Amino acid sequence: MQKIAILYDASQAVLSTFDLDEVLQRILVIARDYFHLQNVAILLLDEESNELRVRSQIGWESGLADIRVPLGQGLTGAAAQQKRPVYAPDVSKDPRYVALRKDTRSELAMPLMVRDEVLGVLDCQSDNLNHFDSETIDLLAIFSTQASLSLQNARLYSLERRRASQLEAINAIARETTAVLDIKQLLSRSCTKIQKSFQLSHVSVLLKEEQELVLRAHHGDLTPRIAEGDRMSAEAGLCGRALASGKTVIENDLKSVPDHLAFYVETASRMCIPLVSFGQTLGVLVLDSAQAGAFKGSDIQPLESVADICATAIQNAHYVERVKQLAFLDGLTGIFNRRFFELRIAEEIERARRFGAGMAVVMVDIDHFKRLNDEFGHLLGDEVLRQVSSVFHQQLRKIDVVCRYGGEEFAILLSQTHQQHALGVAEKLRKLVEGWQFPGVPRPVSISVGVASFPDHGTTRDELVKAADGALYAAKQAGRNRVRVAHNHHKAHAQTASR
Ligand code: GH3
Ligand code: MG
Ligand code: MG
Repeated sequence: MQKIAILYDASQAVLSTFDLDEVLQRILVIARDYFHLQNVAILLLDEESNELRVRSQIGWESGLADIRVPLGQGLTGAAAQQKRPVYAPDVSKDPRYVALRKDTRSELAMPLMVRDEVLGVLDCQSDNLNHFDSETIDLLAIFSTQASLSLQNARLYSLERRRASQLEAINAIARETTAVLDIKQLLSRSCTKIQKSFQLSHVSVLLKEEQELVLRAHHGDLTPRIAEGDRMSAEAGLCGRALASGKTVIENDLKSVPDHLAFYVETASRMCIPLVSFGQTLGVLVLDSAQAGAFKGSDIQPLESVADICATAIQNAHYVERVKQLAFLDGLTGIFNRRFFELRIAEEIERARRFGAGMAVVMVDIDHFKRLNDEFGHLLGDEVLRQVSSVFHQQLRKIDVVCRYGGEEFAILLSQTHQQHALGVAEKLRKLVEGWQFPGVPRPVSISVGVASFPDHGTTRDELVKAADGALYAAKQAGRNRVRVAHNHHKAHAQTASR
């Protein structure tokens, strides 16, 4: 009777907290102290793998923490499968016994159950032979019923809390991301938010660009093996599988997967969710954990919701970028407009100032364009403008900027270019236009070109544009269809004048 009273007190202690790990530790301490046991452990049943895993223990040697017991195996596996206590008064005589500790003489495995559902097993080991008499077994059975209830409560509570915090995270991510229209900032914020809210080791976003995947942002605690901007095949690894199938891919034991791409040194499990918006696959959201077996089936749904939010936000940011771009494009020719020229010339001058690699401004004007319009009509004039633009665009490097400056005038920024080279480029363009067969125009079209370079002809926007304009005027004066470089004294002039 006194034992039952003690047991009652013990059960109260167990029931007084919702923290799962605390509940487990209390169960173990009570079992050890009241029943004079050397070793007690709680193994929880993992429903996905149908294995028992040691979750909490007292008195076991280290290294036993990772033990997994399939249902039906050993005394604990038998107790979980048969849903009743399994007792070996002398373990050396029980073929089911799996020796994990050399001093154990008797062992009692008590299933932890709520209604008919097995949550796990309370494993009690003693250094004494036949340590558990029938009264102790009965008491432990009552105790484990109470322990099971508190275990179940703690689990439900933590599940509820997790659901609530995930929901909160999803809302927060939605709030934050839909307001951000700059794509770089959007991706980096999303990674940070997801990593914190879902307690992941690392979060990365890879976007599909020209049939490849590019790492655009990542955040977390793992050691990277790749850097932002790195490209990889869109078919390889788990990401490739997720993209190909359009479905979330989980790998909980990455070390056993030969084709996985090692983004981070410590990754042990990974989840890849395709980022899809309006049926278009934009990339992959990659979640890494340093722990094996980190991702459960129940994690998929909330994380997929987050991925959907991110995909929509990315799509929005893409649209905004496109609209921004459109504002800098010339409607007729598709090349950049004057607004873009004004934006970039300041950047190019700053770069030239800092790195001393030079830059040049090239002004181009089509000769006798008015006459061409008058003779062949405005529509054909438009076509000539488009074709000249396209010739320039194709001939220049990606880092150069070709703009339609006004009617039949073009301004070109040559990056990291000195005077002599700029002259060569200008001459090449002049020759190309001169020799070009414009459909519907039975005679050659020509251009006049003025070149000014930094720092020879100026060090500010106004000085350089004025110098290039002056050179263009000189080319017209000299008879058109030619290239002129700005006056070399211009800079000295400008400086004297501004003093
Ligand atoms: P110059 O050799 O001195 O440059 O003679 P020009 O006739 O080219 O120069 P002017 O500035 O007198 O005439 C430019 C003409 O370009 C006038 C205008 O009708 C034409 N133009 C401007 N914008 C467009 C356009 O978008 N399409 C067409 N077809 N013509 C245009
Ligand atoms: Mg002209
Ligand atoms: Mg003109």
